[in-house]
Amino acid sequence: MTHIDGARLLTDLRDLARFGQVSTGVTRLPFSSDDLSAREWLRARMAAAGLAASIDPYGNVYGAVPGAGPAVLIGSHTDTVPQGGWLDGALGVMYGLEIARARLEQGQRDVDVVSFMDEEGTYLSFLGSRTFCGGMTDQELERTKGPGGRALAEVIRERKSFGAPARLDRDRHVAYLEAHIEQGPRLEAAQQRIGVVSAIVGIHRYRVSVEGQANHAGTTPMSMRRDAGATLIGIAAEVPQRFAAEAGAETVWNIGSMSFSPGVTNVVPAAATMSVEFRDTDVKILDKLDGVLQDIAAAHSRARRLPVETSLVMRAEPVKMDERMAQAIATAAQGRGEAARIMASGAGHDAQILAQCLPAAMLFVPSIGGRSHTVTENTRDEDIVLGCQVLADAVERILTP
Ligand SMILES: [Zn+2]
Repeated sequence: MTHIDGARLLTDLRDLARFGQVSTGVTRLPFSSDDLSAREWLRARMAAAGLAASIDPYGNVYGAVPGAGPAVLIGSHTDTVPQGGWLDGALGVMYGLEIARARLEQGQRDVDVVSFMDEEGTYLSFLGSRTFCGGMTDQELERTKGPGGRALAEVIRERKSFGAPARLDRDRHVAYLEAHIEQGPRLEAAQQRIGVVSAIVGIHRYRVSVEGQANHAGTTPMSMRRDAGATLIGIAAEVPQRFAAEAGAETVWNIGSMSFSPGVTNVVPAAATMSVEFRDTDVKILDKLDGVLQDIAAAHSRARRLPVETSLVMRAEPVKMDERMAQAIATAAQGRGEAARIMASGAGHDAQILAQCLPAAMLFVPSIGGRSHTVTENTRDEDIVLGCQVLADAVERILTP
């Protein structure tokens, strides 16, 4: 059995949280100086642990254990959203480092560690894990613009980084494991300390736009208005009830933004746009909700005699985790006296990219108050340490024939 050093893990996590610190959280936007400094620090920590560590042209930090493998790859990301939490991503990376280090101290050379670039999508969601798996084209990098309109390809060129991109090695890597904070309230509410992810939800994201006609809001009779705003609000108001009728128990949906043009008090809106997204692990439910949204839009378009357009702006398929790897984590939790909760992940993770090329599994630890993507994000120290020990035990199970 590998015994992880909980105090060392917590110290590393807190040291990492100093890069880009904002009160109790962090801001480490991809390729920012805080992000790159944190990555350099991480590279040095990996090297000190005995890994062959480097930062690749995309900013992925990869630490390979000496030897030809087989190896389990453990990782996540160290970039954050603005004013994000100190554990989102960082937890899974530091678990990897601690487990690789603890096993090396026992003479076992079988865990590689990775911190992917831009999981959060400041430039491009899953940039690092996608390049790591070889699923990124130069054209995509060229056309992706980040904050301030900078092309992602230019940002990468400017780094003048050396060396080859870090790549998944199918002859070496037998599994990908990612630990993450839950970022939701379910584990805490059930007083459970370990979650095992069965699947990561798929997402359908739409832009719904109504075309009306601007006119004076004081002089145009109600019956003569071509009001794009009122039409859009009518569609939005119908979404919760109609979706609920077709949704599954775990389906979620969100109207996250809405805007009117010209967007002034005394003008009837000429155009109105909103975003609608929904998530589920069941592709049949997602497809059904596509139809419901189209129906609602078409009915309001007819009733108001205004053009309504629904365009799919993003579609991510649900991704199942590997059952054998997931079972290894659940059994490891059991071995530490914890009944694992089998659950879906409502958030995206690098594991959904890796799962397309390797058996992949995820472990969740509870988020206090279910909070994440905010500086108040936190997890109890005991849970952080337990999660790492359980993942280390799972690695043992996976690598022991
Ligand atoms: Zn994350």
